[in-house]
Amino acid sequence: MRTLVTGGAGFIGSHLCQRLLDNGDEVICLDNFFTGSKANIGHLLGNNRFELIRHDIIEPILLEVDRIYNLACPASPVHYQYNPVKTVKTSVMGTINMLGMAKRVKARILQASTSEVYGDPQVHPQREEYWGNVNPIGIRSCYDEGKRVAETLMMDYHRQNGVDVRIVRIFNTYGPRMALNDGRVVSNFIIQALKGEDITVYGDGSQTRSFCYVEDLVSGLIAMMGRDGFTGPVNLGNPAETTILEFAERIISLTGSGSRIVFKELPADDPKQRQPDITLAGEMLGWRPQIPVEEGLKRTIDYFRGKLN
Ligand code: NAD
Ligand code: UDP
Repeated sequence: MRTLVTGGAGFIGSHLCQRLLDNGDEVICLDNFFTGSKANIGHLLGNNRFELIRHDIIEPILLEVDRIYNLACPASPVHYQYNPVKTVKTSVMGTINMLGMAKRVKARILQASTSEVYGDPQVHPQREEYWGNVNPIGIRSCYDEGKRVAETLMMDYHRQNGVDVRIVRIFNTYGPRMALNDGRVVSNFIIQALKGEDITVYGDGSQTRSFCYVEDLVSGLIAMMGRDGFTGPVNLGNPAETTILEFAERIISLTGSGSRIVFKELPADDPKQRQPDITLAGEMLGWRPQIPVEEGLKRTIDYFRGKLN
């Protein structure tokens, strides 16, 4: 099996490349290194089944592959809002290019969609049939609407051209190799706690998120790619829901930090609640997360401790 992973030098992509190699695949990692890094995949470069291509998916590329995981897209609000027009191009033109490749070489293609397609959800927990509550003109729209169009493109290439597509909606995922500077809550809080700096809770911290460890998520991606006769969309995430304030307290306790919690302005359109309903993933893929949040956080804290020393 020759497998292409776009965004393969990023946080989730690097874990996916590693697991695919372990499973015996030939892996082509394609990345423009906007938010990913060679350090994330440095340990894979010596493997003769691994190949690295520096390329931007908004430009077409010709490759012969059996499977495509389309993960290329900045994922943290700080990074996707840095150049919002580029973020839209990556999700729209990039996905068209990858779907064109899938059509030409008859590859199965999996799109990394997101819980952001549900926007600031009025249905809780979120099930796949919910159409969402997304602001089309706000500062998160470049990401949310880009990912929604990418889902549309997947289904239209499927209906119009018979492309074999898979759509997964990924909920907040964390673990080693998250970028130190990406502004996401897990990396921010752990780094602040380890440095003894103030922990920055946005708003009053009553908004909720549900955090999934990256190894569990990768198992779900591979299960979905291997599943015949099911396009999705399917939610992948850990239903263990927490308020952001509770999460800050947990990080302080797990790191043994003396940091104080401070409250900062809540960014516009920040979703108030988020929790995946993973019934469908259980039924169709036999998948559910295995790593308790406590354990995953300990591993992630160890990783960041190593990076800061
Ligand atoms: P990440 O930023 O670490 O990885 C994204 C990778 O894509 C990076 O290596 C980046 O350099 C690359 N990239 C960006 N634009 C590109 C382009 N135009 N051409 C080629 N490469 C490009 O983020 P991540 O957390 O690993 O996310 C991976 C995927 O999963 C993304 O599509 C993201 O939207 C999705 N996702 C992630 C989460 C999460 O919590 N981590 C949640 C929902 C969805
Ligand atoms: N957040 C926070 N402090 C930070 C970074 C994020 O309180 O230093 C909050 C943010 O406002 C949001 C939640 O944590 O409510 C998750 O933010 P993240 O950027 O990790 O992901 P997303 O909002 O895309 O789920």
